[in-house]
Amino acid sequence: MQEKHGFPDGYATASEAHRPLSTNRAGPVVLLSACLAGLPTRYDGSHRRAGELLGALDGAGIRWVPVCPEQLGGLPTPRPACWLAGGGGPEVLEGRARVVDEHGVDRTGAFVAGARAVLGLARRLRARWAVLQDGSPSCGVHRTHRDATKVPGRGVTATCLAHEGIEVLAPSEALARIRASENEVGSPAGRNPQKEGTMVKVTYQGHACFHLDDGAHRVLIDPFLTGNPHAQAGPESFEDLDAILVTHGHGDHLGDAVEISKRTGAIIVAPFELAAFCQRRGANVHPMHIGGSRRFEFGRVKLTIAHHGSAFVDKGTEYTGNPCGFLLELGGLLFYHAGDTALFYDMKLIGEMNRIDVAFLPIGDNFTMGPEDAAKAVEFLRPRWVVPMHYGTFDVLEQSPEGFVEALEGTDVEVVVIPFGGTREFR
Ligand code: SF4
Repeated sequence: MQEKHGFPDGYATASEAHRPLSTNRAGPVVLLSACLAGLPTRYDGSHRRAGELLGALDGAGIRWVPVCPEQLGGLPTPRPACWLAGGGGPEVLEGRARVVDEHGVDRTGAFVAGARAVLGLARRLRARWAVLQDGSPSCGVHRTHRDATKVPGRGVTATCLAHEGIEVLAPSEALARIRASENEVGSPAGRNPQKEGTMVKVTYQGHACFHLDDGAHRVLIDPFLTGNPHAQAGPESFEDLDAILVTHGHGDHLGDAVEISKRTGAIIVAPFELAAFCQRRGANVHPMHIGGSRRFEFGRVKLTIAHHGSAFVDKGTEYTGNPCGFLLELGGLLFYHAGDTALFYDMKLIGEMNRIDVAFLPIGDNFTMGPEDAAKAVEFLRPRWVVPMHYGTFDVLEQSPEGFVEALEGTDVEVVVIPFGGTREFR
């Protein structure tokens, strides 16, 4: 039985708000104040249904999940009006201010518990933004209810979400953003909306080599095939390619890229110096650099930082620029191939700015992140699926992904171990 927190008899509890209503299960997830969804969760049992916003969210393919932090904190509906006392949302969370109801009863615990419950839900659903009812002591985005008056500032839940890097928007801001970003793949509002019926087949050739096929376009990443003990395909296996993405110039990543490009005409996309290296050897190239993005016919590519080296080492050593990772939009999904890298804190920024569907992360240790650091990277990046790579190729690398799988047990990210030569479909 739910605790009534000392409210007078006759106050009821309600938890109806906390079930997903939107039936669009393919798009990104947004948390929505339950009262905006039309649920009678306000202190007096009313709602503030935002019909135009709901229509825009549905029209943009955005899955919205209604939440009422005050109910999630255990408060009943109807309930006495509450407001912040002695500070704003941040001060309440820091224990320097309180929430009281109109009878002077302290409701701080329920408000903080509700904010934490909403944050937990946001993490589980990997929600990147929330649309909240402005003016509320819980949900207020720009204005909140303090000392019985509406004042500038954030409510307790809005503060908690914003602190986690989840963008909080008032209904009018969300509506404007959706309208402005219609048809724009990768925008914050329409983050990576999935096209109806799309699916990307990912085949793993061991080490860091993946072949991605969305039915219309094919992209190969780090094609180390010759000399790769786990590769089930050779350079001659690839005929019809749109692009070859190469993260850096080491032989176990550049691999057979030049030969494949020369034979198939596929364009090598790589950091400038590495692209120039490949071009001098007759390959078809498109140079880019870290932070830059470009939309190609097959999809959009953005280069990210990677902490590693990059040189072609043969009889001598030829500098091939900075190593990189790739963000790749293909077939309505967003892939992140980290390249060879150490763990770095900017992965949190990459995760905040992009709704990553599939992350390919090195776990082999010695030259790159090991399993524990890679698990931390997953926490930063927040992908839907993570695929371990760069293990077992050489004696000095970790020989299996077991430690990585173990480190992510109990989290909501699915670890997909693709066998060498195996294919996994993502949709
Ligand atoms: S503003 Fe927030 S806390 Fe208040 S009823 Fe709406 S969802 Fe619940």
